[in-house]
Amino acid sequence: MTFSPDYVTARTQFREAVKRLGWIAHQYPIAGIGPRGEDLSIDVAASAPPATQPVLIISSGLHGVEGFLGSAVQLALLERWKRQKRLPEGLRCVLLHALNPHGFSWSRRSDADNIDLNRNFLLNGMEYNGDCEAYARFDGFLNPQHPPSRWDMFYLKASWLVARYGLPALKQALVTGQHDFTKGLFFAGKGPSQTKTILQEHMKSWIGSATTVVHLDFHAGLGAWGTYKLIIDYPLSSGQQDRLTRWFGAQAWEESDAKRISYQPRGSLGHWCTAQNFAPEYLFAAVEFGTYSNIPVIAGLRAENQAHQWGRPDDPRTTRAKKQLRELFSPVSEEWRSRALAQSFDLVEKAIDGVLGEAEPT
Ligand SMILES: [Zn+2]
Repeated sequence: MTFSPDYVTARTQFREAVKRLGWIAHQYPIAGIGPRGEDLSIDVAASAPPATQPVLIISSGLHGVEGFLGSAVQLALLERWKRQKRLPEGLRCVLLHALNPHGFSWSRRSDADNIDLNRNFLLNGMEYNGDCEAYARFDGFLNPQHPPSRWDMFYLKASWLVARYGLPALKQALVTGQHDFTKGLFFAGKGPSQTKTILQEHMKSWIGSATTVVHLDFHAGLGAWGTYKLIIDYPLSSGQQDRLTRWFGAQAWEESDAKRISYQPRGSLGHWCTAQNFAPEYLFAAVEFGTYSNIPVIAGLRAENQAHQWGRPDDPRTTRAKKQLRELFSPVSEEWRSRALAQSFDLVEKAIDGVLGEAEPT
């Protein structure tokens, strides 16, 4: 059962697989509980103690409910490495499981404080506030203050707003996040999240003194069905661009909208990790696996947030909205799941070959 049906099963399977391999395991509690009273944690596993070897980091669940795929990839890799007896020589692997365990267990994208964690990793010195004017226009549409109903004419309202303000304005509101609407979608937080605090404190100890880090952070819900794109949303050096193309192919990666449109996503994990001096060379990519198209994904996020904020947990509308969100980010289709896993294996292998190839003396 590579794809777990819920967070607790995913974590149990992850812990057991790590134990079978004899890897180092850490657990970092997150305040709060899951829907069945379960405790929550970020689990970290490493193949060997920190050393100078290159490090491959694979993380899952920064966006809670998107964690089903990343967790399945981590579990499948652990099982594969167990069968092969070991990792390729000369490499350390660090797995970060369920960076947002609250969202994973509650079938949400955001954390216990409704924070979208990929907007919360502001760099040192940046303020947890910003211009909310663009977002405010869409607040009424994105965040109705009542449980979801079948008759709210989502598509009609969406097309009207796009016609009035243009698609770039809507995209900007979604991509940049906001610090003012605490119950709204894409809330970036009013301070560092629990997850950011844990990573800030421990990331360096997981990495050690490695000079090279390659970090793949698994997401879902963006792009074409069952295929991935590596999305880069921080400034890349030309050496890094070159490396991405050589390792993965020119078509496999792209820099986020920041270059094409005049706004920057703020507070992404990738931007933060690469700006912290954890290692002299830190290459980060968000792996985005496509599921459904943008409009149903936004509709699903909106309905789940309405149900979570304004509905009762036992209301069938809440159950329905959360089930739908799981489908939007981790389709039950066997074809999607096997394709996503096969492509993830291929991607991880390319990353390993790439980093080991670079590490060899020329
Ligand atoms: Zn995501």
